[in-house]
Amino acid sequence: MATVTLRNIRKSFGTTEVLKGVSLDIADGEFVSLVGPSGCGKSTLLKILAGLEPQNSGDVAIGGRVVNHIRPSRRDLAMVFQSYALYPHLTVEENLMVPLKLRRLNRMERLPGLGHLMPGRRQKMHRIRAVVEETTETLKIGDLLARKPGQLSGGQRQRVAVGRAMVRKPVAFLMDEPLSNLDAALRVHMRAEIAELHRDLATTFVYVTHDQAEALTMSDRIAVMMDGEVLQFASPDEVYHDPADLRVAQFIGSPK
Ligand code: ADP
Ligand code: MG
Repeated sequence: MATVTLRNIRKSFGTTEVLKGVSLDIADGEFVSLVGPSGCGKSTLLKILAGLEPQNSGDVAIGGRVVNHIRPSRRDLAMVFQSYALYPHLTVEENLMVPLKLRRLNRMERLPGLGHLMPGRRQKMHRIRAVVEETTETLKIGDLLARKPGQLSGGQRQRVAVGRAMVRKPVAFLMDEPLSNLDAALRVHMRAEIAELHRDLATTFVYVTHDQAEALTMSDRIAVMMDGEVLQFASPDEVYHDPADLRVAQFIGSPK
């Protein structure tokens, strides 16, 4: 768990400024949604937070530590995107193990032919299996472990993608429209599952969606973005009943 702070983030692509000084203070364990129309800068902001895109100016801090120059894998964040990006040739179980193996293998072990000489290798595999088991229990995907992604439904695939993000015990989850490829009924179901996951893990979530209903039902607070700016950052109740201005009211669909 960790606080997440964005301070005066600016970002341009060429001559177009797509983030115009965005600041957000997200509390430890909070579920925050970034909402706003397509092209307003939500994904760019999330990528900057993850370290996948550099900002032109401003600071990103995680757990109170400025991470501007820390690479993505060292930020201890989990990213889940709308495209599941599972390895099609690996089983669900193997997909879940990939992030753990990548992290735990040290240089010695990567030398061909020497891996089996490493003491503790078996112990590591044991630990990896334990983490995978815990994750599959939480997500109720234990019966899918032997399948390949092509043999899963959209909802099951999304659950495995969440599982793969979970195994590294991230301090925060970043999700970019994770449900937008699912049909309407499944989307509503998965919404509840993600909310439950948030309750269970008590981890900070930053959740991007263009679906205001999704944001209103799931979030502790909502940041309403437009044209590279945050117009309002408040509870769903406040955003809905006391919108900061007409643009927020229109986007959220507040009663006039
Ligand atoms: P959102 O996720 O809210 O739909 P994005 O953050 O993806 O918005 O995009 C914000 C703006 O930045 C858009 O105008 C988009 O075209 C532009 N943009 C995003 N990524 C790039 C890029 N790599 N190169 C150039 N322009 C980009
Ligand atoms: Mg986007």
